[in-house]
Amino acid sequence: MQVWQPAYIGVGSNLSEPRVQVRTACARLADLPLTEVVLTSPLYASRAYGPVAQPDFVNAVVGVLTRLEPSALLAELIAIETALGRPAERQRWGPRIIDLDLLVYGRERRSDARLTLPHPGIVERSFVLYPLADIAPDLDVPGLGRVAELAGRLASDGLQRL
Ligand code: AMP
Repeated sequence: MQVWQPAYIGVGSNLSEPRVQVRTACARLADLPLTEVVLTSPLYASRAYGPVAQPDFVNAVVGVLTRLEPSALLAELIAIETALGRPAERQRWGPRIIDLDLLVYGRERRSDARLTLPHPGIVERSFVLYPLADIAPDLDVPGLGRVAELAGRLASDGLQRL
């Protein structure tokens, strides 16, 4: 079995009481096999971006230690999304009851059909970088740099700590 690896997971929701959805998803992460939640960021409210008008999001980032392989961890995240009622098919930019993104997994860098690491959206999303900076400012994101510096370069975009 493989060694413990640090991983960071982005959590977001903008439907059906988003704060409750985010807290429920965090509780499910704590129940994952071979995985321990180490830190959970404060919750943030963020404006939805993209072409579809929709409610604001609630976001957080969770830091874990895990012995699951990246693809196994991703499968667990998708299983939590499904358990919380996320439909398999939906509008790309549409509202979502829950969204779990594997942001960083150890020093992994990969891009295949199912999984890109680090997550490609990290650098342009304040709702990812700000909560990540709360729990891991000195994290060196593979290929991108230190979280506090990445966050410092990004406007807050109306992001509000709840
Ligand atoms: P989304 O609708 O943006 O949540 O995208 C979900 C799909 O993106 C999943 O089915 C994954 O196969 C794929 N994906 C690729 N890289 C990642 C990642 N780092 N974290 C989560 N999903 C990913």
